[in-house]
Amino acid sequence: MIDWTDLPEFGFELRCCRWAERCWPPDGDAAGPVLVARQLGTSRRRWDTVVLECDPDGLRERARFGEEPLDGDALDVLRHAPAGWEYYRDALPEPAYPWRYVRESIHGAVDRGVLESRKRGGRIEIRRKWPYPDWVDRIVAIENKPDLDAAAARRLGEQLEHDVALALADEVWVATRPTGERVEPALLEGLPVEVGVVTLEPERLEASVEWYPRRLAVDEPGTLIAERPDGGGWDASAARFEYVDADRKATRRLEIAERAYGRGWRSFHRTMRPDCRHFELRSPGGAIPYCRAKGRLPTARECAGSCPAFEPEPPAWRTRGWPIEGGPGAACRRLLDDRRRRRR
Ligand code: SF4
Repeated sequence: MIDWTDLPEFGFELRCCRWAERCWPPDGDAAGPVLVARQLGTSRRRWDTVVLECDPDGLRERARFGEEPLDGDALDVLRHAPAGWEYYRDALPEPAYPWRYVRESIHGAVDRGVLESRKRGGRIEIRRKWPYPDWVDRIVAIENKPDLDAAAARRLGEQLEHDVALALADEVWVATRPTGERVEPALLEGLPVEVGVVTLEPERLEASVEWYPRRLAVDEPGTLIAERPDGGGWDASAARFEYVDADRKATRRLEIAERAYGRGWRSFHRTMRPDCRHFELRSPGGAIPYCRAKGRLPTARECAGSCPAFEPEPPAWRTRGWPIEGGPGAACRRLLDDRRRRRR
């Protein structure tokens, strides 16, 4: 049995992903398909849960580019690849890095089967197979804090101010557990008013919106809070800001969306040890990792080869298709990958 009253943050995060996949948006019908991923963002800021609201036609067209995400360099090529044969330096905008890296991206895209190239007079010409679609309508970031006490809210408040100032996501939410109090404590914790608050009961996935978020200006330049003083008595330093133009934000958003497309939220098996004999997936939704040795949901960090209780599956389980095509570890991976694929 899963102890829902003592679910760690990692478990709450998985349940939040499942809820978003089933119920997004929290206040009405979805305009299009949604894809959910976890632990994504930029080098400075990582969101717990990322919800992509997608254009249905665009999402179908995106599928032609394969299951794996396209990185920033590949996107630079594919977004500008011409419909007819053209010398690549004429067809693509001047890159911010040497052209030899562009040639590498072209070869990578050709190997992947999503771009055509040929040599004419010693020059590489390229032609697109399909236009890269406009498939992402909105990006929503959710921070999961099942127990939002004052200290956690203070730390989270600074991160959320960063999100609001930069406006990389269209909306930012905090998901927390309901406390049953008349006014949820999360509303009293001084979080930025632009951030929405939803309470989520993780077992039954019942959610209630406590505060609606404001839509952030993703198409306008954003402000990156690069450094802020710690505010101590001896700290008289000024905060440092950088402006991020709208084009750079659009590129970052697309890179995040691509990573979310490739990874989904069930990819935790890639960093955990489903090949341990104590590992299993539990319902509901078949996507809660459970450790029989510890008698609870393990965190992603402790479920590793360094875990003292780790015991690899017996070789006999993995070979000769036990019980069907490999041991339980392989079956867990297959199940999670299948579900991720089905969502797309
Ligand atoms: S024993 Fe350790 S490695 Fe094995 S499932 Fe449990 S936490 Fe993971």
